[in-house]
Amino acid sequence: MRESEDQVAVTADRFMETSQSIGPIVLLGPPGAGKGTQAKRITERYAIPQISTGDLLRENVRNGTALGLKAKDIMARGELVPDELLYDMVAERLRRPDCERGCILDGFPRTAAQAAWLDAFLEGGHSDKSKRGKWLPFVISMDVDYNLLLLRLTGRRTCPTCERIYNVHFQPPRVDEVCDLDGIKLVTRNDDREEVIRERLQAYERQTRPVAEYYQQKGRLVSVDGMGSADQVTEHVFREIANHSPAKVGGC
Ligand code: ADP
Ligand code: ADP
Repeated sequence: MRESEDQVAVTADRFMETSQSIGPIVLLGPPGAGKGTQAKRITERYAIPQISTGDLLRENVRNGTALGLKAKDIMARGELVPDELLYDMVAERLRRPDCERGCILDGFPRTAAQAAWLDAFLEGGHSDKSKRGKWLPFVISMDVDYNLLLLRLTGRRTCPTCERIYNVHFQPPRVDEVCDLDGIKLVTRNDDREEVIRERLQAYERQTRPVAEYYQQKGRLVSVDGMGSADQVTEHVFREIANHSPAKVGGC
């Protein structure tokens, strides 16, 4: 009897998590903070899509699109791609029906201008208002010390097929350099080399720190300690998501 009541409660919780409106969640943090790792877990738990501008740009580079050709060298140097090049790509993704209940933005916005653009877009200033989410972003900032970021980034490996993220120091695959899920050889990202990593971390300090201030001033930012194990961070992130109520466009 007790067991079936528990089962009903678990099923009801799962139903809530996968049907309620979450709104857009921004994961903010330097390269290596764990945004991609946590985004995948949020996607599984809440059934909302992960939108990683890094992944979308790398796809454009692989496919040799006009955007990819412009972004390729900039990304290889560890610099940020100019704001205006990203907006069409992000707008197109946000308009898709799977974003109706919410989405996780991983790696966007990365400049104060991008943050202002995103608010304006969600407020309907860029046409097609009816089709989009009716909420402003809720921002979870992940803090991690510089030296740990370096270690995480140099140890990062990714599966080129399923995009699962590993780390040779902290989250190794069962067999060295091979994906647990599909047996494919893992790859190291082109920009996870020490000299490029330093440039990316500098770009973060220079251009992305102001994004935290932007959201802080609007009262839409919470910080979590990103230094613990991935499971500990997930616990904090889920708690913050469960406790937030999506901020409606127009403030009502
Ligand atoms: P990480 O996960 O290490 O933070 P990403 O995969 O998010 O890195 O981004 C890789 C690269 O793609 C960045 O160094 C930058 O060149 C480009 N990029 C991704 N998102 C943005 C963005 N929002 N604005 C400008 N450039 C971006
Ligand atoms: P980001 O998207 O912010 O650049 P990732 O999620 O790709 O960060 O994580 C960077 C690296 O650190 C990956 O190799 C990942 O396996 C590892 N990692 C992520 N979170 C943790 C954590 N909490 N503890 C230890 N390693 C982690």
